Amino acid sequence: MDRRRAVPRTDRVLADPRLQEATERLGARLVRSAVTAAQQACRAGEIAPEAVPDAAVNGLPPAATSLRDVLNATGVVVHTNLGRAPLSTAAIEAVALAAGTTDVELDLATGRRGPRGAGALTALAAAVPDAGGVHVVNNGAAALVLAARGLGAGRTVVLARGEMVEIGDSFRIPELLESVGARLREVGTTNRVRLSDYADALDDTVAFVLKVHPSNFRVSGFVSAVPVEELATLPVPVVADIGSGLLAPHPRLPDEPDAATTLRAGADLVTASGDKLLGGPQAGLLLGRSDLVDPLRRHPFARALRVDKLTLAALEATLTGPVPPVPAMLDADPSALRRRAAALAADLTDLTDLAAEAVPSLAAVGGGGAPGVELESAAVAVTAELAEPLRLGRPPVVGRVVRGRLLLDLLTVPPDRDAELATAVRVAARDAYGT
Ligand SMILES: *Cc1c(COP(=O)(O)O)cnc(C)c1O
Repeated sequence: MDRRRAVPRTDRVLADPRLQEATERLGARLVRSAVTAAQQACRAGEIAPEAVPDAAVNGLPPAATSLRDVLNATGVVVHTNLGRAPLSTAAIEAVALAAGTTDVELDLATGRRGPRGAGALTALAAAVPDAGGVHVVNNGAAALVLAARGLGAGRTVVLARGEMVEIGDSFRIPELLESVGARLREVGTTNRVRLSDYADALDDTVAFVLKVHPSNFRVSGFVSAVPVEELATLPVPVVADIGSGLLAPHPRLPDEPDAATTLRAGADLVTASGDKLLGGPQAGLLLGRSDLVDPLRRHPFARALRVDKLTLAALEATLTGPVPPVPAMLDADPSALRRRAAALAADLTDLTDLAAEAVPSLAAVGGGGAPGVELESAAVAVTAELAEPLRLGRPPVVGRVVRGRLLLDLLTVPPDRDAELATAVRVAARDAYGT
């Protein structure tokens, strides 16, 4: 039989009402490529001609984006490769609303232009009462760049050698500062710096002392750094890059600096990320003395680092709405996690190939900060052979392989998605073992 003849024609497949509806929703291009892929599978003899429409429907992406909704079962709360903080439902709703036409820069009462993102900025100011001024830019690096450009261009920034951090993807804080025309003056050694080192480095070219939180590594042994309280006694402003975006102290993260404490300790300006421990959208926060923040807000660079309406909406909802997923995960009750793991493992006992077993696990904060902090958690362990089929599933599930087994850590899985996780494991097992 000539397979090519048997392959249904594109227009006949496209006549399927499900594909018509998908064309409205996803656009003709994506639907056509799903149809082409199904036709190719038919031509290769992998599926029967009458199965082509179903295969095309199954091959459609869930939305018109190549990004996938991934179940994070890694136990890493803020996973950089998985988009850092997942937004709260409230923030997702706010983003969807703001995505349309919205009054981001219009005062509906007067009909005149209004302050951009006033709601988000008011919420941020209310969340950090110690900050006289607040501003939001694209990300943590942008907050630092704006501070360095606005306060330190053509001048000197003093930074301890032990705080010359690479923040990830080979971006380095010293290079970031120099790229906007600030001169760097290094003080201290890799492991130790004293207040006198900073004091000796001051002259009238110094714009500020920068304190960078080493958020992705830890040094121990013969080490010392100078706390913000002491730096604040110097006759120049102190800018503190706290990294994680914690606004107030967190009992499980005693070594993680927060904005309120850092400002009260005497920092003049604090910079932080919005999508780490704050649990919001990608954003950079500038918090501090209004006579420093206000000129930065009006600096030409600020326009280039400006956030969009989606970020403003998500940030406001993160600050005013219910507890977002990231802080909720940090406070997860280990016994509830153990119960979920036991239930999930019990649900999978009929799949004997998997050897599914509930096991204790240690989750991590991840790219968001708090290196070395372990969060008591629970996981379902299955054979590591499932790692790939799970990653390629719908939705993709990413776990972590430990000593030859794949751990599906429940701390980072939303509790209302356990059933979906079980189904994903079943489907992956069927693909792997044909059971
Ligand atoms: C994460 C981090 C940054 C960079 O923030 P982004 O939001 O990733 O741009 C800068 N400084 C510190 C200390 C950080 O932890």
